[in-house]
Amino acid sequence: GLTGEAYRRRHEITVTGDEVPPPLTSFEATGFPSEILKEVLKAGFSSPTPIQAQSWPVALQSRDIVAVAKTGSGKTLGYLIPGFIHLKRCRNDPQLGPTVLVLSPTRELATQIQDEAVKFGKSSRISCTGLYGGAPKGPQLKELDRGADIVVATPGRLNDILEMRRVSLNQVKYLVLDEADRMLDMGFEPQIRKIVKEVPARRQTLMYTATWPKEVRKIAADLLVNPVQVNIGNID
Ligand code: ADP
Ligand code: MG
Repeated sequence: GLTGEAYRRRHEITVTGDEVPPPLTSFEATGFPSEILKEVLKAGFSSPTPIQAQSWPVALQSRDIVAVAKTGSGKTLGYLIPGFIHLKRCRNDPQLGPTVLVLSPTRELATQIQDEAVKFGKSSRISCTGLYGGAPKGPQLKELDRGADIVVATPGRLNDILEMRRVSLNQVKYLVLDEADRMLDMGFEPQIRKIVKEVPARRQTLMYTATWPKEVRKIAADLLVNPVQVNIGNID
């Protein structure tokens, strides 16, 4: 196989941060639990995408990450699988609130992420609930009351439900800001900051974005601690 450096060059991966681990260029190299590997193979995937190869080993070290990669590069499993592994290591009672929280800009994206979490997490008995606008709150609250290891939410709906005091974020250990650039474009910054105030400071934070403008840099600087940055291709 390629050395880490050669793999990075070939796939235009650039990294910044202290002692960034080499990419995991094959599924076998990941050491993922067999239930997870089985799902990945069942999906017909032959190897990790570059963002997965480089962000998995960083996420598995429990470090904060900024990942900049364009749409379609496999970012969802890039953060979901390390989240599953976190859950397998230390599982809280999901009735007390989610351990993994994913913020997403839209209902469509949130439901896609939820579908992926259910598909790849089911054999690990990981539960996932979606909280998003454009759908009645009742069924979402009912599902939430049954307990969820992972909540995938749009910032607006999650704030509504927080104000109703129907969910607690004090068990969250793994926070993902997906499509951070889009969430900021949509004006969600105040809501994101409100949500993050409810999440314990001792947590792992992962930010995934397609672009890297100064607004995104600013919120990354505020919410992440000594992150490793992983870029795929040219970013500005
Ligand atoms: P992004 O969030 O970067 O836009 P997604 O996570 O939505 O990308 O992934 C895009 C598509 O690629 C999805 O259909 C997903 O199932 C698929 N995919 C994810 N990982 C792999 C992989 N390692 N090999 C092949 N396809 C993959
Ligand atoms: Mg995505």
